[in-house]
Amino acid sequence: MKYFITTPIYYVNDAPHIGHLYTTLAGDILVRYHKLIGDDVYLLTGTDEHGAKIAEVAEKKGIEPKEFADQISAQFKSLWAKYDVKFDRFIRTTDADHEITVAEFLTKLKEKDFIYKGEYKGLYCRGCESYKKQSELVDGKCPDHNRVPEELSEPAYFFKLSQFKSQLIELIKCNALLIQPEIRKNEVLSFLQGQELEDVAISRQNVAWGIPLPWDNKHTIYVWVDALINYYTAAKEKNLWPADLHLMAKDILRFHCVIWPAMLIAIGEKPPKSVFVHGYFTIDGQKMSKSLGNVVDPDKLLEQYPRDVIRVFLFKAFPFGSDGDFSFDLLKEFYNGQLANELGNLVQRVLTMVKNYQNGVITKPKDIDPTFEIDKVSETWSLWKSSLDNLQFELGLKAIWALIKYANQYIDDNKPWGLAKSDSEKLAIVLYNLTEVIRHLSILLLPYMPDTASEISNRLGIKLQEDLLVDKQNWGVLKDGTKIELSEALFPRRG
Ligand SMILES: [Zn+2]
Repeated sequence: MKYFITTPIYYVNDAPHIGHLYTTLAGDILVRYHKLIGDDVYLLTGTDEHGAKIAEVAEKKGIEPKEFADQISAQFKSLWAKYDVKFDRFIRTTDADHEITVAEFLTKLKEKDFIYKGEYKGLYCRGCESYKKQSELVDGKCPDHNRVPEELSEPAYFFKLSQFKSQLIELIKCNALLIQPEIRKNEVLSFLQGQELEDVAISRQNVAWGIPLPWDNKHTIYVWVDALINYYTAAKEKNLWPADLHLMAKDILRFHCVIWPAMLIAIGEKPPKSVFVHGYFTIDGQKMSKSLGNVVDPDKLLEQYPRDVIRVFLFKAFPFGSDGDFSFDLLKEFYNGQLANELGNLVQRVLTMVKNYQNGVITKPKDIDPTFEIDKVSETWSLWKSSLDNLQFELGLKAIWALIKYANQYIDDNKPWGLAKSDSEKLAIVLYNLTEVIRHLSILLLPYMPDTASEISNRLGIKLQEDLLVDKQNWGVLKDGTKIELSEALFPRRG
């Protein structure tokens, strides 16, 4: 089954922060999961590079906008390489095929009579790159950027968004465009139902850094319209439309659930199938902001912890879709507790016992231990699957950690060090059960912690294939005579 996932394309006005990392890692976890279950998955990410704000920042730096965009775009791309994000395409809105697709898209809208020329009068925040209503301002300023919006009055082309109100409401109500979590769906619906839907300006006359309107090159295409079309550009190349899932933070919900589906319907295309909106991070309980100096740099995080630790921490801490707090204290507590003491310790204890009591060779016993609950493993698989299908990343991890705890308890209950002296048959059964649990864990963890998954598999003497689940969920896959490898602790405790 085809599964096309997108992250937003990130605006190149600034370097990547933890919010960008969070969305993109969610995409990567899903890609690895869908590969495992045999889907034909495609992940799109990239950068949004046009608009007045980019031109302004570039000018301050004394360079051309494209040169500036090149620099920041490269930072994003290299960051995703460091976190081993498996994207299929990194799109830039300055890519030639995108510029062509945008021009074609707008031409279609015009041919279908959804575009007209008018006069735009209003307030424009360059920080948001969007028009503001008086009611959205606080003390006359954009609350997100703390700047007074510019008064604009200029000829502009408009998209007849107002015509799509009832269609959009219907689409969202019946989940043909599924918006998750439910609170975000209700937010969009109440916006649509609460007021007249106004037509939107889709061009700017005095912004040179953009894609020219195909029929009037005095205008460039409004950066948001240009950016939204990126998903369609990438899909066209591989025949992937409609998108199965757009991932995003809540600030860009309205663009994706109102303007974007309307634009698509207008040219006779399908809207995206679903949108998932995640929350924001606070840092040590405070809003992340440059002025507070608490912006978390994903590059710097990697100097302190391996990427797998960061990946799993971000998704285990709180539900995807809710706001949550990030702190280095919590990260360290998580590392020493759940990674070092629970997961790492389990793997190390079991492999050490196989090494010490069985010369490092797994024996597959004929008998079973009736006290060992194999059902716990199959239950973990079904919880893992339903959680990942529903983007409940933290629930998937909770299920995995319940299995880790069960296995640690099974060691304590059976005391293999005692069996080593008295009952070698029972010992073989207990150690086999434990190594099988660890093998299952390595695959269950794969979407979240790919490096750890592959390291555990190596130590178990098996090769981890990332693309197919097939028989791996069965019990008893580890073969008799498999040689394990004992090595350093996976997560050495930190003081
Ligand atoms: Zn603003």
